[in-house]
Amino acid sequence: MHEMSIAEAILEQVLAVAKDNNFATVTHIRLRVGELRLLVPEALAAGWQALCQDTIANAALLEIAEVPACARCRKCSHEYHPEWPVFLCPACNQASVDILAGEELLLEEITGDTTEATQAAQ
Ligand SMILES: [Zn+2]
Repeated sequence: MHEMSIAEAILEQVLAVAKDNNFATVTHIRLRVGELRLLVPEALAAGWQALCQDTIANAALLEIAEVPACARCRKCSHEYHPEWPVFLCPACNQASVDILAGEELLLEEITGDTTEATQAAQ
């Protein structure tokens, strides 16, 4: 399952950041996922829940923010919202486009508690 391997990669990064920041527990994770990644947020959340059970991130709130896709036509510079899987420019019908947004998969913020105080790591 696509989402499961992504959840695994996220967990790996989260635990590395937590270790660097001496987090005793991870409380909040914010993830930005581009629309063109075609991820099902519910499946990603389910994969995450299954994986984080025995880690310090097991009680963390996983927030998934979807980034809308945006494309710009290389011919006429028209910017538009592409509808997967069709990327034709609605202004001139060219299929030569630059993707400006929608391919992100970013761990935007990880928050956790150390034994002393709450810290945020970017
Ligand atoms: Zn165009």
